[in-house]
Amino acid sequence: MIKENLTPTEVTSDLYDFRNKLNEYLEGKMEDFRFKPYRVARGVYEQRKSGTYMIRTRIVAGEVSLEQLKEIVRLADNYASKNVHLTTRQDVQLHDVRLEDTAEVIEGLLEVGILTKGTGGNTPRNVVASPLSGVSSDEVFDVTPYARLVTRHFLTDPSSFNLPRKYKIAFSNSEKDTANALVADLGFIAVIRESDKSESGYEKGFIVYGGGGLGNNPSCGIKLKDFVPVSEVLYYAEAMKRFFEAEGDRTNKNKARIRHILIRLGEEKFTELFEKKLQEVKEDKQFDLKVLENNDNNDQQIDAAAAQVTATQVDTKSTDEKEELLIKQKQPGYYSVYLHPENGNISTTDLKDLIDFLESIDDSADIRISNTQGLYVRNLRKDDAVGLLKIFKELIYPYKIDNSIACAGASTCKLGLCLSQNLLKSIKEKFENVNPFIKSQLPRAYISGCPNSCGQHQIGKLAFSGIARRTKDGLVPTYVVHFNGKVGTKNPKLAQKYGEIPAKKLPKFLLNLARLKYNNGNRWEFEKFVQENETEVTELIEKYSVIEPYDENPDLYYDVGATELFSIEGRSPGECSLGIMEVIRTDIENARENLEQNYLYEASISAARALLVLRGIDTNKDREIFKAFVDHFVKEGYLKADIEDLTGILLDYKLGDISSLEAYQEDIKYLVKKVEDMYGSLNPKLEITLPKEDDEESDKDGSSGSSGDGSRASSSKDNIQDNIQDNIDGEGYEIVDLRGVKCPMNFAKVKVSLSTKEPGDVVGFYLDQGEPMDNVPKSVEGEGHTIKEIKEFDGYSLLVIEKAE
Ligand code: SF4
Repeated sequence: MIKENLTPTEVTSDLYDFRNKLNEYLEGKMEDFRFKPYRVARGVYEQRKSGTYMIRTRIVAGEVSLEQLKEIVRLADNYASKNVHLTTRQDVQLHDVRLEDTAEVIEGLLEVGILTKGTGGNTPRNVVASPLSGVSSDEVFDVTPYARLVTRHFLTDPSSFNLPRKYKIAFSNSEKDTANALVADLGFIAVIRESDKSESGYEKGFIVYGGGGLGNNPSCGIKLKDFVPVSEVLYYAEAMKRFFEAEGDRTNKNKARIRHILIRLGEEKFTELFEKKLQEVKEDKQFDLKVLENNDNNDQQIDAAAAQVTATQVDTKSTDEKEELLIKQKQPGYYSVYLHPENGNISTTDLKDLIDFLESIDDSADIRISNTQGLYVRNLRKDDAVGLLKIFKELIYPYKIDNSIACAGASTCKLGLCLSQNLLKSIKEKFENVNPFIKSQLPRAYISGCPNSCGQHQIGKLAFSGIARRTKDGLVPTYVVHFNGKVGTKNPKLAQKYGEIPAKKLPKFLLNLARLKYNNGNRWEFEKFVQENETEVTELIEKYSVIEPYDENPDLYYDVGATELFSIEGRSPGECSLGIMEVIRTDIENARENLEQNYLYEASISAARALLVLRGIDTNKDREIFKAFVDHFVKEGYLKADIEDLTGILLDYKLGDISSLEAYQEDIKYLVKKVEDMYGSLNPKLEITLPKEDDEESDKDGSSGSSGDGSRASSSKDNIQDNIQDNIDGEGYEIVDLRGVKCPMNFAKVKVSLSTKEPGDVVGFYLDQGEPMDNVPKSVEGEGHTIKEIKEFDGYSLLVIEKAE
């Protein structure tokens, strides 16, 4: 089988440049707000504890070689926490890395062909695949080559690093959907159909789903096609990317994913527009599919076992809640074994033992990171598999509840509310000496430390998501209880909420749930048990949901494993300024890349739009973009005056009145460069500090001509007049209505509004509750203004701000 080169030169050289940027930052030559989006796009995230960083790698389809694993272990020992974290996206993460060491780690990974680029930021993320693909006895065919193919395609396409948000792709090797394709932005599920074109009488293909996803507004994907030949995989992946670029909401990070387009457009329109993009890609692309052809030859077409499997014959039922420890492969005489380190954290000592073991046996066993925070050791002869079971018995559990999943949670994650990993530890302890008949009643639990879904609680049969419950005695760490989520092509569904239970009571609740099932529903699979015993299950939840006052039960006010009273201090929701930086950066990088490819119009429109967010302007209409650009930047004197004429020429080109922009290439390069310079000159208050190019022109047009960015005030004022009402409650200040304005645009509008005021002036802003009220007050305070008052109304708030000196 041909293995794709997954480390294109352009990406590796970008990553080798990380050291230079890091040094610039460490030497104070690059500001924090500029460095942050740069490092995140290269997989370097700040952890909750200040000064510590996490590095996320791209492990395509979970395939990791022994050589790569050795290097990961070396890096974890020398620069990280001596633990390697296995994620639910088949990635590996190193935690507790010092910022100074991040370049060393990135370069070490590069030496063994592991990339970190695109493991954060707005780009196609690690492409996942069923972890037993290639060996599973009930698979349709091995989908791993397609995961590699798609990865390679996007890594070599610079535009894929500037999407409205992340783009997740999954390949499942059967309709059981073990890669969770049903909840991916684009999901492929292997199927075969009869065909007289092939010798085997069958043709390989995929059912394709789109618009699925977990997190806020979760959804199962909709079926885009019943059967897509494998040769069309790249056309679908590329079409979804273009569709996302065209329809994705770049102004609101929380509504930017592909599933939000589905919600906004509805299924019919979504499918229609996706189809259009697909046709467009088919017309202008000719993908080289040699890798697939070679793979097909080496793969001896579809093997006999797979040929027996058709779309309707797959049994997606799970039989009980016990694990199969020796997993029989489709290759006779070979087995896989699943290792599940608690919370996905495997020590480097265990990994070294595993490496030694694999080097000591004759066979070519391989390792696949699973999407359940564990790993499979595959292609073992029976004796070796049994030997592995004995050596690693601390990591191999026969009960699914021991193989549960918990996200990073509030111990390291900046968004975390509850200590999800401590909860899992405590659940496991609770069940340690419990009768096996009781223990085997529960399925794997999926635990997220906040309503985001990194613990994948929305697909768990048994799942929990952390919240902070406010009581008169203080905050209580609490989990929402969810049941019966499932993927797979047969009736996929998201888990339903059944109630809330304080963190400290959860382990005991679970034990009693297992007992209830043993007594009432032992013969049923868990999902059916919950359905058939809904009243008793709900009553049990209600019993455990009670929050006693602090005097009566102080323990409830501490999170599991915590010694201090529960609080959400240190939690940092998205910061508005950083959100704005991301919006700008995306457009500028698009402009630069389009320019490199000589797409002159596209480069111009991206550049012209990039900085409009600073003026509170959000439009996708080309004419409005160019007009606003001229008003706010050309007439302000940041660019030479005749760029106004260029925008007219660009519109003529768009309308087809002129056929080429070649003659204007230099002016367009200048436009892009100037926008980059303005971006580069932004200070932490997001003010342009670039000296103006043409003060004379600025004066002529009635602009203030003042230095720095103060001149924007008058021209921006018109944009917000619509929002200004007279003081409605007689307090003597203006009120700007920003209800319905999304993050980070609302913050941009607050900034524009305040820029028209004098120090000490007071302005009120109506903002929607939820994300706007989570983010804007913090960002406003971060700029030194004073929050005088917050009034709560039904669904919105009034934020009253006094402008800083
Ligand atoms: S689910 Fe919440 S707490 Fe857990 S890792 Fe994701 S953002 Fe953090």
